[in-house]
Amino acid sequence: MTFQEQNHSFEETRDEAIAMLKEAGLKLTKKRQEIIDIFAQDQKYYRAIDVHDILSSENPTMSYNTTYRNLYDFTEIGILEVTEYNQEQLFKISCFPDHHHHHFICTNCGKVIPIHACPMAKIESELPGVQVQSHRFEVFGLCEECA
Ligand SMILES: [Zn+2]
Ligand SMILES: [Zn+2]
Ligand SMILES: [Zn+2]
Repeated sequence: MTFQEQNHSFEETRDEAIAMLKEAGLKLTKKRQEIIDIFAQDQKYYRAIDVHDILSSENPTMSYNTTYRNLYDFTEIGILEVTEYNQEQLFKISCFPDHHHHHFICTNCGKVIPIHACPMAKIESELPGVQVQSHRFEVFGLCEECA
């Protein structure tokens, strides 16, 4: 199986996100469109507050709770991926909504490199009898440009 490298084009990513939104029965509001545009434009991790700052520069009356609620809903339906770093939640557009994968994340610039190998199969042999429900595996460091 060949995987496309990350950074699908802006249009491709945006259209796929909109299709997922509609499939999940959510309306494409102006605010949701703007959120999708931010994530499709620059396919890196954002804090919720960063997304909110971008949105509210154009719409000062927008509430943070609504922004956060949308990010949460987008994550639930698979448009966004979420991770945690320094006790903060970070959101990005899903690199491969249909493929199980992990990430390398640059702690300096936020660049994300998808990892298609999954360490879970090896780890499971150390957990006889348990029923694994989910797992997280992330690699943090400096990307080639920042190193
Ligand atoms: Zn990903
Ligand atoms: Zn970097
Ligand atoms: Zn895995």
